[in-house]
Amino acid sequence: MRRYSAFAIAREALRHHTGWGRAWKAASPKRRYDVVIVGAGGHGLATAYWLGKNHGITNVAVLEKGWLGGGNTGRNTTIIRSNYLQDPSAALYEKSRSLYETMSQDLNYNVMYSPRGVLMLAQTEHEVRGYLRTAHANKLQGVDTRFLSAREVKEICPILNIEGPRYPVLGGLWQPRAGTARHDAVAWGYARACSDMGMDIIEQCEVTGVIRDGDKATGVDTTRGHIDCGKLGIVVAGHSGRLAEMSGFRLPVESVPLQALVSEPIKPCMDIVVMANTVHGYMSQSDKGEMVIGGGTDSYNAYTQRGSFHHIEETVRALVETFPMISRLKMLRQWGGIVDMTGDRSPILSKTPVEGIFINCGWGTGGFKATPGSGWAFAELMAKGHSPLAEAFSMDRFRQGRFIDESVAAGVAH
Ligand SMILES: Cc1cc2nc3c(=O)[nH]c(=O)nc-3n(C[C@H](O)[C@H](O)[C@H](O)COP(=O)(O)OP(=O)(O)OC[C@H]3O[C@@H](n4cnc5c(N)ncnc54)[C@H](O)[C@@H]3O)c2cc1C
Repeated sequence: MRRYSAFAIAREALRHHTGWGRAWKAASPKRRYDVVIVGAGGHGLATAYWLGKNHGITNVAVLEKGWLGGGNTGRNTTIIRSNYLQDPSAALYEKSRSLYETMSQDLNYNVMYSPRGVLMLAQTEHEVRGYLRTAHANKLQGVDTRFLSAREVKEICPILNIEGPRYPVLGGLWQPRAGTARHDAVAWGYARACSDMGMDIIEQCEVTGVIRDGDKATGVDTTRGHIDCGKLGIVVAGHSGRLAEMSGFRLPVESVPLQALVSEPIKPCMDIVVMANTVHGYMSQSDKGEMVIGGGTDSYNAYTQRGSFHHIEETVRALVETFPMISRLKMLRQWGGIVDMTGDRSPILSKTPVEGIFINCGWGTGGFKATPGSGWAFAELMAKGHSPLAEAFSMDRFRQGRFIDESVAAGVAH
């Protein structure tokens, strides 16, 4: 792989940018791989990356039915934070956040990680108590957060209306090293590094069936032919239920649309991320100046990557109340993704009832922030059969009643 650097940019500028190679090679499927990963979103690609980097397993294919990063990875609002309540979640999300800090250097790819700070508003007494509890828990877990008063909230984000008529701001949970990153770049950076290790990333290759020999998986049928594999990792977010059905087991997840939208670009007015969970909306400003806005999930199950108009209306109404200055902004684009929700709002990183099949799903509305850590833990689980970071997130927890309840941290937004 040719390294990207200031020197490379200068060299290419002098020769009219004719020397840039492909970031990753367009591979065709081989007959057999040691590991096949289904889904070239951030989590699938990060898994492949850490399989190679940490465990020396490089005979790997990542199969993608559409284009790389075209699922939720390329559709999210890019919020990264680790202020979760339960110990296993804080460990996993904080590992992830810390991997984001050095990701651009590790991948030699600028993922534009911006630790600008994330503020979660407390707008009811219940939320104040909830966030105070999270701030105390985070202190014990070594996650840097603190609870701010309403006055401090206003100082950090002057465009906020803290005296709203319905839900005045009573305080907020502040994580200064949380922030955002460029979502596509995360997928592209991992793809480039995987391709450089000799792995095959195969786009336009949908898995249509899982081949089993008794209780063991031996390969997959795809729209580009049959592929044998030693181990199979399923990392398909909203389509996890369908892949589980092909494999012969059931998952406790529901697939629902989640929407986001962006405004026309405006001058810089907000240098942090604000989430207002009570009124259901959150906002940050992109480097281009667009206000990036996200809302809640639709209340029905679906596989359409769109979403409904009434949700947009609700989200915008909530944000106009919170940030009155956006009331005359024009909205430019709206889109949706299919998110995979578990009952306790925590992910599943697990072996399955079928030998050789591993599943990584259930990230729901908030998995972008977990991309590197999820890949790290899932690769370890696939390579060694166990991973300390993934241990609490096995499928068995739903049968055993060991829920990891993150509904305060992840139930509404991200
Ligand atoms: C609108 C929106 C806003 C969000 N905002 C945030 C946020 O601010 N912060 C945050 O942390 N998270 C956020 N999320 C959640 C986050 O985007 C996801 O949790 C995360 O991106 C999931 O990554 P993934 O790699 O598991 O899934 P995906 O990126 O969806 O990748 C799965 C891939 O599998 C492929 N696939 C499916 N079926 C098959 C098949 N049969 N064969 C081959 N390939 C298949 C799909 O095409 C897809 O590319 C948001 C999500 C949405 C939709």
